[in-house]
Amino acid sequence: MSSSSSLWRRLQKFTQQTFSSSAILLQPQSPSCAVCGSRDGKTPRHDRFPQLCGRCYGKIPWITQMFCPVCGRPEWCPDCIRRTGTAFVCNRSAVRYDPVIRQWLALYKYRGNEGLLPLLGEMMAMAYRGMIAELSLTSQEQVQIHGLIPVPVSEERLLERGFNQAEQLGSYLAGSERLALYDILHRTRHSDKQSFKTRGARLRDTEQLFAADLHAAAAMLDSFNSSGLKTLRLLIIDDIYTTGSTANSCAQALAEALKSLAPALPVRIYILTLARS
Ligand SMILES: [Zn+2]
Ligand SMILES: [Zn+2]
Repeated sequence: MSSSSSLWRRLQKFTQQTFSSSAILLQPQSPSCAVCGSRDGKTPRHDRFPQLCGRCYGKIPWITQMFCPVCGRPEWCPDCIRRTGTAFVCNRSAVRYDPVIRQWLALYKYRGNEGLLPLLGEMMAMAYRGMIAELSLTSQEQVQIHGLIPVPVSEERLLERGFNQAEQLGSYLAGSERLALYDILHRTRHSDKQSFKTRGARLRDTEQLFAADLHAAAAMLDSFNSSGLKTLRLLIIDDIYTTGSTANSCAQALAEALKSLAPALPVRIYILTLARS
């Protein structure tokens, strides 16, 4: 108990340092804020988020404490207890899916404000670094992620929007953390918007909704062959985590494909999402 509480203290210290006391820049000529358009130079800007005015930065609902160790939810979680056959180790999210983040994601996803990508991507990167620090602390070794796998959107959604937000966030993270991105998953059918559904409907709807491309998965495994890999650690990327049914369905598809290709290789699948609803 005492070692786990000291671990939590170290973790809390890490998150506090990461999220609150990073250096703040006062820019002589502030560019307009990517969200509200303000050129307010009086409120200091955060060094990692120069595209935001100080006021908008202050609205980011960072998740700094969690209640559910599986999905990272900051309050009591009914979904992880009820789920059977969880195919991922854990999910971590950068922020809560509150009205501010809902609006920022809508500006980016539906209004095509691509200037928000570096902002949302950097939020993901912060959560990624926190996740790696946490996993390394709990497993007492430096945990390394071998590849990022974006959650695919349906063809319909892709045509409508022109891009896959999970793929864009994944590409940003791949660039900032020097990781490889593997487009391995695809949707087996179109599913309607998850956000309007009940939990039961979501579960039915996401059952075998995803499949992994075996050729792409085999090519990914080949790229690690010479590195003496003992455990393969993959990170699935998405924008929003709600009940975890989409994430779990992706993790199941990935795990099944890898099992068929490399039955003896231990695989650990993690989820990283921008927002936890
Ligand atoms: Zn602003
Ligand atoms: Zn949970």
